[in-house]
Amino acid sequence: MNQSEIALPLVLVIDDDQTIHLWAKRHLSAAGFEVVFAINGHEGVDAFKKYSPDIILVDIEMPEMDGFATCSGIRSVPGSSNTPLLMITGTEDAERIERSYLAGATDFIVKPINWQVLIHRLRYMIKASKVFLQLEKSESRLSKAQQMARLGHWELRIVDDNLYWSDEIYKIFEQNSDSFTLDQPGFLNMVHAADRLYVDEGFEKAIKNGTGLTIEYRIITGTGKQRFVSQHIEIIKNQQDQLVALTGTIQDITERKDHENQVRHLAYYDVITGLPNRTCFLELLSTALELAKRNGRSFAVLFLDLDGFKGVNDTYGHHVGDLLLKEVSRRLTEGLRRSDIASRYLHHHNYIADVARLGGDEFTILLNELTQPEDAAIAARNILKWISEPVLLEDHKIFSGASIGIALFSQDGQDGETLLKNADVAMYHAKKMGKGNFQFFHDFMNIKAKKRMELENYMHQAVANNELQLYYQPVIKSVTGELIGAEALMRWESPQLGFLYPVDFISLAEENGMILKFGEWAIHEVCRQYQDWQKKGMGYLSIAVNLSSLQLNQISFVPMLKAILNEYQLDPAFLVLELTETMIMVDSEKILGTLLELKKMGIKLSIDDFGTGYSSLSYLKRFPLDSLKIDRSFIKDVTNNSEDAAIVDAILALAAALNLQVIAEGVETGLQKEFLENTACQAIQGNVFAKPMPMADFQEYWKSH
Ligand code: C2E
Ligand code: MG
Ligand code: MG
Repeated sequence: MNQSEIALPLVLVIDDDQTIHLWAKRHLSAAGFEVVFAINGHEGVDAFKKYSPDIILVDIEMPEMDGFATCSGIRSVPGSSNTPLLMITGTEDAERIERSYLAGATDFIVKPINWQVLIHRLRYMIKASKVFLQLEKSESRLSKAQQMARLGHWELRIVDDNLYWSDEIYKIFEQNSDSFTLDQPGFLNMVHAADRLYVDEGFEKAIKNGTGLTIEYRIITGTGKQRFVSQHIEIIKNQQDQLVALTGTIQDITERKDHENQVRHLAYYDVITGLPNRTCFLELLSTALELAKRNGRSFAVLFLDLDGFKGVNDTYGHHVGDLLLKEVSRRLTEGLRRSDIASRYLHHHNYIADVARLGGDEFTILLNELTQPEDAAIAARNILKWISEPVLLEDHKIFSGASIGIALFSQDGQDGETLLKNADVAMYHAKKMGKGNFQFFHDFMNIKAKKRMELENYMHQAVANNELQLYYQPVIKSVTGELIGAEALMRWESPQLGFLYPVDFISLAEENGMILKFGEWAIHEVCRQYQDWQKKGMGYLSIAVNLSSLQLNQISFVPMLKAILNEYQLDPAFLVLELTETMIMVDSEKILGTLLELKKMGIKLSIDDFGTGYSSLSYLKRFPLDSLKIDRSFIKDVTNNSEDAAIVDAILALAAALNLQVIAEGVETGLQKEFLENTACQAIQGNVFAKPMPMADFQEYWKSH
């Protein structure tokens, strides 16, 4: 260290003996000290105040104010306590030494003074006092920091179970260090009852493993408030590896916990209903699984989907939809709490957690500790009853319902995801069974669901891979037997799934929207084919194509149709679009506009499967229709069931009144054909003449007719 850069250590010498001054000056200056002198006690105290020396030498034997008095005088100056003070004494008697220390001396030295020894002593004492000062400073800084961090330290001695807390811990626990009897039982008593075992185990674990450990738990403070703390536990062992003490810190982490809880709430709970969300439900499920596996118990997962929720949203708006979800959530939680199923099977302390909203209009219910599957059925039946009670939301009386699927642990799945998925599959089945009911999961459902998924997968490439085909079924004019038209019927030749009929894939294509692509392809294909026939000079036939409601509702439908007809330069009069009754009854105003536009283009419109829907006469009158197709179901028994015969007669009368052509569909037998030939029915389509056939076969058929 370069001496010139820092101030030299300053020694104050208080002595009435001038020769000491001289010796001190010589030896101490030479050793790198700066020295100031005082000739008596009074001057000495003044000099101390004036120079703030690093160390003081005081002679005990002085007139007037002796060394003891001088020492006391200096020590009474504020801030003096850290300055080392050395007494110079002529004799080494015990009483003087005792009095020196009492007066506040740090050490003493006996005359005659050995200056070389003294110099080393001074250096050491100054250094020690500096270190001490620094320590004090950093200790006070540390305690300030700890105060700010709400962090305190503690120590538990093993020999006598003596527990020590720093001030900050007393503050965190809101206890008074004077009145609070601090021991381990007293401390544990302040830990939240539900966390005591956990804290106890934490200590045991730290001791057993011999390593540090941090635990977080709740405490109830002296004023009865709940706070979260984080406690760090360190193990202190002696050289023989025996445990001597535990020590560590305790920090108040209430604010952080509150924040974490907020974040957790957002991540784990549904905003609209306040119910646990999917993530949370899956965790609840895994807890239930563990418990059930351990105890050899069973439980049920109920998957609930509201019936007609989309309709409520579309009709009354999302706001009312949200209100309905809240109401359903209320009915579920309250109903389950009230019912005796609940008291037997739901966790009594957090029943709410066992109802969750997965998203959309899907809810799940976890029925714990099931003794028999019938109990899940009872719960499901009750739930359906609660949900189907009408609800008044903003002056709208809304009738809701639900479909429920039930999966049981362990027969329907060994893990949460599987159980949830299978409950979903069962729910889907309940929908298929007509909604408003519940279904237990069965393995065959999964096979169905798997098939469906496969179908859906391959469906996406069907158009691109040219796997679709159109079959044509002739339409024959009754009486004359003349070929007047054909219906184009879709087939799917899938390399993976085989040859598929519409019944296998149309409804799925309608559900997932693929029907739009398929339908467009069919129109394209019919037009392309028709143009080819035109080029070959085959003559005129009307070709019917089936439409799905999705297509008709597409804004781009009419422009798309125009573009295709334009592409093949075709007169649209050959084209018949087949619609169903339900398709035009729903949202009829919008559909009417579209149909009028199609009509204006010269396209013909036909009602398919007539008699199976619920169209009214007044509606039919408004639509620009050309023909009706009597559904196969009426034709089937027309010769041996007088009711069906009467219906066919009625449809024919109706058609005549509306000036519509009639085509009888699905005519299979000669008897049926004869029956129809004796009525006003103009056209017949059915196996009795020809089954639907591939394009090439149909072309031959056409040529020979
Ligand atoms: P649809 O429009 O009522 O078609 C008539 C159905 O009756 C056809 O079934 C046809 O093969 C069948 N059929 C005709 N004559 C007889 C008969 O004498 N006996 C019996 N048992 N059946 C007969 P397919 O081809 O299986 O089509 C079923 C349904 O699929 C169609 O009913 C139609 O609604 C739909 N579909 C077919 N192709 C398409 C399409 O390209 N687009 C749309 N959206 N739907 C289509
Ligand atoms: Mg049809
Ligand atoms: Mg039909």
